[in-house]
Amino acid sequence: MNTTTAQQHEVLVLGAGYAGLGAAIQLAVRTKKRGNVRVTLVNPYDTFTERLRLHMTATGQETAEMNIAEMLDGTGAEFVRGWVTAVDAAAKTVRIDDDRVLRYDTLVYGLGSIADTTTVPGVDDHAYTFNSPEDAAVLADRLARLDGGTVVVGGSGLTGVEAAAEIAERHPELHVVLLGRQEPGASMHPKAKAHVDAALARLGVEVRAGVEVTKVLPDRVELADGTGIDAAATLWTSGTRVSPLAAGAGLTVDERGRVVTDTALRSVSHPDVYAVGDAAAIRQGYGVMHGTCQGGMPTGVHAALSILRVLAGKEPKPFRFGYYHTPVSLGRNDGVVQFTHPDDSPRRIVLTGKRAAKYKETVSAAPWPTFARMKKMPVSGAFWPHGGRYTRIRSAK
Ligand SMILES: Cc1cc2nc3c(=O)[nH]c(=O)nc-3n(C[C@H](O)[C@H](O)[C@H](O)COP(=O)(O)OP(=O)(O)OC[C@H]3O[C@@H](n4cnc5c(N)ncnc54)[C@H](O)[C@@H]3O)c2cc1C
Repeated sequence: MNTTTAQQHEVLVLGAGYAGLGAAIQLAVRTKKRGNVRVTLVNPYDTFTERLRLHMTATGQETAEMNIAEMLDGTGAEFVRGWVTAVDAAAKTVRIDDDRVLRYDTLVYGLGSIADTTTVPGVDDHAYTFNSPEDAAVLADRLARLDGGTVVVGGSGLTGVEAAAEIAERHPELHVVLLGRQEPGASMHPKAKAHVDAALARLGVEVRAGVEVTKVLPDRVELADGTGIDAAATLWTSGTRVSPLAAGAGLTVDERGRVVTDTALRSVSHPDVYAVGDAAAIRQGYGVMHGTCQGGMPTGVHAALSILRVLAGKEPKPFRFGYYHTPVSLGRNDGVVQFTHPDDSPRRIVLTGKRAAKYKETVSAAPWPTFARMKKMPVSGAFWPHGGRYTRIRSAK
């Protein structure tokens, strides 16, 4: 890192995901001319992980390489490649895996989430995941080497649906079984759910809903009803968990380990720490936000704006966000877009088929140009649906 001057305010952003990268760019661009704020972004990979496309990586499809340092070029922010191993909230330092210690005045905590592989025995040892680009590539390699057999996708949420459809489409020689407690598309409008069901049937995916997985073995998945499925590969997409670093640092976290924030996205226990994206428990009028990139990117931008206001001696504004859509791919040429109320409940408006696939592709491709635009015109990143009456704050702090 560069040498520090006494007046310099160090902002450390952990995690260059949808939320963290948005925070770093927004803050760095807006403070560049002042010279008294330094922004450093820490991430384990040089390239941005497009989590929305990991099911494509897992089926051997090439996705674009997006270099983080290049994206930060011209913003004044510094990129440090490293895996954070500890946060010391009292000393205001962060340790990374090569034993470097980075100091901060303000921390932005954006370490995301991964699939929860701890709830069912055997998942951690034997199941494939989308927890990193490498994990998805390992699955791609396994699938490419199979010339038949069954692939089980554990978890019938939307990540599981997208993965099952993609695998079935790219590997017609494999039998794909999608397992879970809930029906695929259960939270959608019946019109959208019917399209999901039809697409999975068209692709030959066997759906088994209402089942409980009790164990994952190297070549079999066992179910609570005493039956099992022989599986050449099992992909686990069920549930999410977050890094234990925040809890380890003594930050107030919720029952899932997410950093509990105030309305400005500051940790309620450590106001010099902001939490963004999947790693944060952010309460809105309709409840605590769930992890999406449509909500994650605005949290990053808002944290940056809050930091700016605090540095200027002003009270930060409350964060408000309302959901607007749930785009789901069903292979490369089909999809469904469920438009939603701000609390994420389904509206009657649904897009299906090729037009939905195109819409989903546009959404998946959007973050990088959005970040690029933000570099030139930071205000362009500061527009998102605020949720109207769904997020109106009664007891704003
Ligand atoms: C297959 C899949 C499909 C999805 N599809 C959609 C979709 O269609 N629409 C949607 O809105 N959401 C979707 N999601 C969810 C969405 O990807 C997440 O909500 C979003 O990525 C959250 O952004 P984030 O910045 O909080 O975290 P992330 O994007 O996960 O970024 C976190 C970053 O922190 C880094 N990191 C983690 N731990 C450490 C550490 N110890 N040290 C340093 N760096 C670390 C990670 O490497 C990563 O770069 C999908 C998720 C998956 C897995």
